[in-house]
Amino acid sequence: MNAKSPEKSDRLKTAVSLATVAHAGQLRKTGEPYISHPLAVKKILEEWNMDEDTIIAGVLHDTVEDTNLTLEEIRAEFGDSVAFLVDGVTKLGKVRENMKSLDTYLPETTDNFLRLMIATGSDVRVLIIKLADRLHNARTLAALPPAKQKKIALETLEIFAPLADRLNMGLLRVELADLAFSYVDPRRFEYLKNLIETTNKSAEQDLKHIKSEVSALLKKEKLDFTISGRIKSVYSLHKKLAKHNQNMGEIYDLTALRIIVPDVTSCYLALGLLHSLYVPMNGRIKDYIAMPKQNGYQSLHTTVITKQKKIVEFQIRTREMHEYAERGLAASFYYNEQKLTENYKEGKIPHLPTNLLWITELQEAAAKLKEGKKVDLKKLRLNLFADKIFVYTPKGDILDLPKGSLPLDFAFRLHSEIGGHVTGVKINGKMSNLNRRLEQGDVVEILTSKNQIPRASWLDKIVTPHARQKLKQLLRQ
Ligand code: MN
Repeated sequence: MNAKSPEKSDRLKTAVSLATVAHAGQLRKTGEPYISHPLAVKKILEEWNMDEDTIIAGVLHDTVEDTNLTLEEIRAEFGDSVAFLVDGVTKLGKVRENMKSLDTYLPETTDNFLRLMIATGSDVRVLIIKLADRLHNARTLAALPPAKQKKIALETLEIFAPLADRLNMGLLRVELADLAFSYVDPRRFEYLKNLIETTNKSAEQDLKHIKSEVSALLKKEKLDFTISGRIKSVYSLHKKLAKHNQNMGEIYDLTALRIIVPDVTSCYLALGLLHSLYVPMNGRIKDYIAMPKQNGYQSLHTTVITKQKKIVEFQIRTREMHEYAERGLAASFYYNEQKLTENYKEGKIPHLPTNLLWITELQEAAAKLKEGKKVDLKKLRLNLFADKIFVYTPKGDILDLPKGSLPLDFAFRLHSEIGGHVTGVKINGKMSNLNRRLEQGDVVEILTSKNQIPRASWLDKIVTPHARQKLKQLLRQ
């Protein structure tokens, strides 16, 4: 529970009773009283050790949108900070309009993460509340009608799981992605899940042996460590297989062993010892300690071939790195015992671990842009979505596509049934042609006819592998 307030504060209690009254009579699709949802969000935020204002805002996050409670009432009761967060989450729900309206003062190429930050008033806690909200919604997707399930699952996979990754919230990313993927492609999900389980089962004995071999050596060298298995998530296996032409032979990290040691020196020591025991595979040693990933992830990775000719990946890291890899930004709130954003607003320099400095940079840039000042966007090392564009269906559903995508790419992403029967396209309400590159924020309406058949010439009007593959399938039929 929240380290700063072992006892539930009165403010939090007040928030819960206010929200309970406000949502009274409303039901969720699951049939439960609506208040069960904000309470679940509260619990998630508490598990993430967020500060009290964030938890209160989590309790109230749906009140302004869905009840008679107003932002002003919230401000009067809980102060500016909570009101600001609730307002941010409410606005983020309308991310489509927000992203569009930002276009007037942001260059087209602006990173979408930065857009989100600006849309949320540059307080990253808004995103964290939104992620908690999405996590509970994803966990309770079963209650929704199938079409809605798919829509929410797709959006979760395309926007919220990458966002969790950007904040290095590894556990959250895995849970969101696997939940969503099980609705987006249930058959594939089951297949891969079974594949992972059977592979791990058959590797169990080998791993046990490898574990004891490694443990013996590390103990001999007086290293303080723990070693355990880590299992790959279904969705990351799916993505990796797509990258390697579905060739399972190229997936070396289905099961990995993780070694946790007290400090950085011990990480390199453990790596050296491992390499003296087993043969490292060429080109598969990654030093994310010296060169952390963009989201701040740190670890040493190496893939080795054991004496029994088994291939196994090792990940070596300190306890802090591990905690940060799993809980990311949320973990840093806990460790730093401070609110990054408020410190920032007060002009204090927050004492952040270096792997979090990008957040400060980002907030600084977002604040400047909001005041109409110039910012060198190229200097910001942000490219979570840099190679992607967001486009919309006429109903307002968001799809993300690689930059340079064409209308047929969009059509096949919607459904191959649609892709196969395209007669034309309207972009932003105007008739357009199939060679027109889609741009950030375009509203794309695909026109179809039952009599239209797929054409081989369309292959020139497609850039995404997915659409190409679907079209080829149709052409073969
Ligand atoms: Mn909600």
